[in-house]
Amino acid sequence: MIDVHCHLNFKAFENDLEEVLERAKKSGVKKIINVGTSLESSKKAVELAQKYEELYAIVGIHPHHADKLSKGWERQIEKLLEQPKVLAIGEIGLDYYSYASNGIVDSNLQKEVFETQIKIAINKNVPLQIHNRQAGKDVVKSLKKYKNSLRNIPGMFHCFASDFQVLKEVLDLGFYIGFDGNITYEGIAKGEVIALFELLKRTPLNKLVVETDAPFLSPIPHRGSRNEPSYVIITAKYIAQLKGVSFSEIDRVTTKNAGNVFNL
Ligand SMILES: [Zn+2]
Ligand SMILES: [Zn+2]
Repeated sequence: MIDVHCHLNFKAFENDLEEVLERAKKSGVKKIINVGTSLESSKKAVELAQKYEELYAIVGIHPHHADKLSKGWERQIEKLLEQPKVLAIGEIGLDYYSYASNGIVDSNLQKEVFETQIKIAINKNVPLQIHNRQAGKDVVKSLKKYKNSLRNIPGMFHCFASDFQVLKEVLDLGFYIGFDGNITYEGIAKGEVIALFELLKRTPLNKLVVETDAPFLSPIPHRGSRNEPSYVIITAKYIAQLKGVSFSEIDRVTTKNAGNVFNL
C-alpha cells in the first residue's frame, strides 16, 4: 500500500514522527508521499525524504499560498524538483471554498500560479498532483490549455470531489483519481453535489489511488482526531467493500497505479 498524499511535513507530526512511521510500516504501508503546500513545507518534505527510506516528496504551491509568494519562487520550486526522491509538482490547483482559516484567494491569481506550475511540470517532465475544491470546471479548463504538452499519464487528482462531468473529463485527460478517509463519512460535503461513493463507483479500478491527506480527513472511527498514514488501510478496506473486490486486490491495484503515475 502506498499513501500517495499526506503531510508528515506539517507541525502536527513534529513530536512523534518516528512512531507514526512505525505504525504505518506495521500496517503494511510501504511508501508514503509527503506533499508541500508552500516553499517552506515543500523543503521540509524533501528533507524528510532524504532522511527516511520509505518517504518521498512532492513539491509545489497550494492555491491558498498563491497570494503569499515572493519573487523568484518559480526557480526555487524548480530546484526542489531536481532533488532525489521528489516525484511530482503538487499540490497545485484551484480552491474556491471559503475556509474559516483561509478566505478565497483571488481566482485570477490562483490560476496564474497554477498554470505557471503546470508549465514548470512540462519543462521538468514530472507529473502533477492536483488539488481542486469547488473549482472543477476551471481546473479542467486550465489543464486543457496544456493538454498536448502534458505527459502520457499527466498525474493525479488528490482527494477527489466534483461532479460526474468533471470526473469524466479528468479521466479522459488521463489523470488518476485519489480518495481519502472522507469517503467513509455519511452524506454530501458542504458545497458538493454528489456523494463521494458515487464518484468512486465511476472511477475505474485501474485509475484509482488511495491517500490520507494526514493530518486531515481521518476515516471513521477516527474522524475528528489527527489522521496518519497507517489509517490509509481503513480507507482502502472501505473502498474494497464499495467496489466489491477484496482488500488485497485494492492493495495490489492501487500500488501498481501509484507506480504508474510516479514511476515508483
Ligand atoms: Zn488538497
Ligand atoms: Zn493535502
